[in-house]
Formats: sequence, structure tokens, C-alpha cells
Amino acid sequence: MAHAPQELVFAPLGGVGEIGMNLSIYGLGPEGRRLWLAVDLGVSFAAEEHLPGVDLILPDIRYLIEERKNLAGIVLTHAHEDHFGALLDLWPQLKVPVFATPFSAALLEAKCASEPGAPKIPVTIVKLGSRFNVGPFDIELVTMTHSIPEANALIIRTPCGAVLHTGDWKLDPKPILGDPTDDKKLRALGAEGCLAIIGDSTNAVREGRSPSEADVAKVIAELIKSAPGRVAVTTFASNAGRLRSVAEGARAAGREVIVVGRAMERITQIARETGYFDGVQDFRDIEAYGYLPPKKVVALCTGSQGEPRAALARIAEDQHPAIKFSRGDRVIYSARMIPGNEKAVGRVLNGLIEQGVEVITDRTHLVHVSGHPRREELEDLIGWVRPQILIPVHGEALHLTEHAALAKRCGVKQVIQCRNGDLVRLAPDARIIDEVPTGRIYKDGTLLVAADARTVADRRRLSFAGAVTVALALTEDGRLAADPECDLIGIPERDRDGGFMHAAVHDAIIETFESLPRGRRRDPDSVAEAVRRAVRAAIAGRWGKKPMCHVHVLPV
Ligand SMILES: [Zn+2]
Ligand SMILES: [Zn+2]
Repeated sequence: MAHAPQELVFAPLGGVGEIGMNLSIYGLGPEGRRLWLAVDLGVSFAAEEHLPGVDLILPDIRYLIEERKNLAGIVLTHAHEDHFGALLDLWPQLKVPVFATPFSAALLEAKCASEPGAPKIPVTIVKLGSRFNVGPFDIELVTMTHSIPEANALIIRTPCGAVLHTGDWKLDPKPILGDPTDDKKLRALGAEGCLAIIGDSTNAVREGRSPSEADVAKVIAELIKSAPGRVAVTTFASNAGRLRSVAEGARAAGREVIVVGRAMERITQIARETGYFDGVQDFRDIEAYGYLPPKKVVALCTGSQGEPRAALARIAEDQHPAIKFSRGDRVIYSARMIPGNEKAVGRVLNGLIEQGVEVITDRTHLVHVSGHPRREELEDLIGWVRPQILIPVHGEALHLTEHAALAKRCGVKQVIQCRNGDLVRLAPDARIIDEVPTGRIYKDGTLLVAADARTVADRRRLSFAGAVTVALALTEDGRLAADPECDLIGIPERDRDGGFMHAAVHDAIIETFESLPRGRRRDPDSVAEAVRRAVRAAIAGRWGKKPMCHVHVLPV
């Protein structure tokens, strides 16, 4: 019997053409008999105005559910939401082994504990830098620097060759926490021979190199030291290195750190449990804020993205029960505004400025750096690893294209730009060979709904043009048994000429009904459709918008 050729394939099910919702799969074996490995299972955050009421966007994993028996496991590169945030909701449909390093595993556990009804996800904890097997995949972790502890690249070795899946990374010679990027291992991979890099493109448009976390720490320490009153720092809670920098800056200035906000408390606790805060002074409870002199405190606050219920927003609105800021105090905004959050963040910062608080951002001071590689760092990686193939991922179209062009200039022989759902054969003979089903799922309240389900689209229409409901009581011989009932929701009360919208709707219902031929008046569906059209037209003529309209015809 002839053997079908052994193949190694790769497909992104999320995270390409977007920043968020990362999910990559690797398949080994001949077509139809592949064994799979999944890397990461992340979410995206929904912009409120486009998706009213939707909290999260998750990748559609119907392909993995179909292939579940052949899915050997999920390996997490790190514990950012865009890489592990979908596990709680999607893992129960897969129930495959999950592999993570200690900090990521601890964060996942804390997340499960904080969400009622969360599944029990058994996690195999793997050591930093370790090598282990997941099905037929021989995986070795490579320590990378990033904006959260324990970011790992994966070397995935197979009989068809070795792939470097970078995860999120940057080169930081002086990270505040953990080891710097393990360039020795990356160079060794280059010497051994690397088939392909599947690589982070987030900052491929930025020239040069990222500054180090140590540079940021220095600036933050100076800003804390020179502050005339209270200091608050807001950052992404998961950036434990940044929290440590703030703590060290506070200690050097003789100030105490007060943690404000649940996410911040959670990370602080996990960082202590996993040893990343060894040597960091104990933080004080929020009550201490009330009696410590202003020059003795630094408040570490959640809410860097303008989240309305988080600590910073409540402080900016003077609504926080324990924390008050006033003229002369200093707030350090040590984060990036995630695109889509600019307005919300602006509201918070403006609120603080209006209270006379000094707000410092990365516009004027190096109080934040990204955790992703700029161009010279990308060049370094390609130079060390010298892959035959490079596939840009983790980026929008612009980032992917820039990364691709850079890789070609660096001499990578084959650069493959693919989209979510493309099935790329890496070996033998690399190219896009097929497509697998992909898409998005919305987390709507406690439910998961398909992105193309009508619910969210309906809600968007409701928010734009409101709704009318009409109830008609219809006798058997086709007469109205009573005056029609109608309710207008979210629709202006009067038109331009002062006429009542409600009356116009009522008249349109009666006129339409009476203009129907007798035979049709006895048919509830026919009546409902005619009335629906007439009501929408009547409102559109007076308002310029067509609301949703529901007509209930009740036989009596
Ligand atoms: Zn990411
Ligand atoms: Zn990340």
C-alpha cells in the first residue's frame, strides 16, 4: 500500500487581519488523518457602538470541535486575554489537555475562580524553557520578553521540520521581571535548521527598537519622587513588571503602595505566589489611603482603558468611596489606549484634569512601552533563526504586509501572507492548499451566539430607530373588535409640524386596514404585513427613519 505523504500544515483560526482572538492550529499527517495542536485560544473586545451588549468576541471553533478526537492539546503562549481569554467559554466543547507555564496557569485558575459556573480546566503546568510532547508534536518553550510574565515562543518540532511560533514578544535586555529573551536558544534553532517562523507583526510598522521596561521604570521613579502630592499610576493589571517598577519607585520615594481595583489585587496576589514580587514591600489596604499623608502614597489603579466601573473612572468622577484626588495630585497614565477606547480614556483623563490633577502620559514622558517587537528586533530574530518560510500573524493588514516586506528584505525565501481560515501547507512544498471554517462568536450576556445571528443586528437597529408594536383584535368576519393598541419605543413623540407620532401611526393602521379588500381582512398574516409596512412608511415620512415594527393580530 502506498503511503500518503506526511504533511505539516498550519491554519490561523483567529488573530490574522486583526489584533485579538488568537488561535492557531498545526496539523501533522496526510490529509484526512491529521493530528492537531492548537496554540492559544483568545478573545477580542467588542467596540460598544458596533456590537451593543456584546462583551467579547471569540473565534468560531466548529472545525476544532469536528476534529476534537484528533486534537492533541492546547498550548498557551502567555496569559493575555487575546491569547487565553476564550478558554473558559470554549474549552468545555473541546475538553482536551491544556499546557501552560506556572504564572499563566495561576491566572487561569484565578479567572475560573472569579467566574460563577466556570468549568474546571485541568492544566498541565510546564516549566519555562522546558521540552514536552503533545501528541506527535515535540514542543520546546523559549523564554521571550513581553508585557506580562512568562511569554513563551514555541519551537514545534515535527518529522517535517521545526516551526518557531513566536507568540507575543520583544527584545528587552533589562526586563523588570523574569529572564530576557533566550536568544541563545533561538540562535541554536537557526543552526539546527528552522522551517518556518509564525511571527508577531504588531509593531512591524515601527522603526528601531522598543525601549526597555527598565527605562520606563526610571522615568516612573523620577515622576513619583518629584510629585508634590499624591500619585496614582494606572496600567494594564497583567503587566506585573510595571507594577513592580511602580512599587520600587514608591519605595525609593518613601511612599506606600495602595492597590485599587480587583484586577490589580488579583495580579498582585498571583505575582507574590509565583515569586515575581519577591523583595517587593507589602502593599497597603485601601483604608490606609484615608490616613496616610498625600506625600506618602502611590495608588495603583485599574481602569487604564477608561472602563467606567474601574477605579480610575470612579476617581475621575469623584465617585470612589475611598480614593479622592485633588488639585496638585499627579496621575501617571502608564498604558496604551487600545484602539476603540480613545473616547472612554479621554473622558477619564479630562475628568481628572478638570479636578486640577496633573495627568502624565507617554506623549511627554516614557511612561509606557509596548511589548511587541519593532523592526530591528524583527530583523534580529530572522537573522538568528534564518527560517525558510515566514508567515506574519498577530496584526492587521498593514502590520502583516510590513512584516512580510521586512522578511523578504532580510532574505527569507518564502513569505506567505494568509488569512484566518487559510490552510497553509508548510512542508513539503509550502503554499496555501485549502480553507477551514472560521468565524466569530459573540459572548452576549452569559450566552454564546453566532456573529451572524439576528440578535445583535436587531439590537443595533433598535438603538438607531426604535420599535413599534401593534396589537389588533380581529373578528372572524374580518372586522376590528377594538381600537388598535400601539406602543412606540425610542421614537420621537411629535413630528416637525407638531403632530403626534402616535396618532399618525394609529391613523395609518385604520386607513390601511379599511383599504384592504374584505377577503384579505380575514387573513391575519396579510393584515399584519400590510399594517407593518404602513406603520413604517408613516413614521419614515415624518422622521426620516424606519423603526422595527411588530404587528400582532389576535383573532377574537
Ligand atoms: Zn497578543
Ligand atoms: Zn500579549
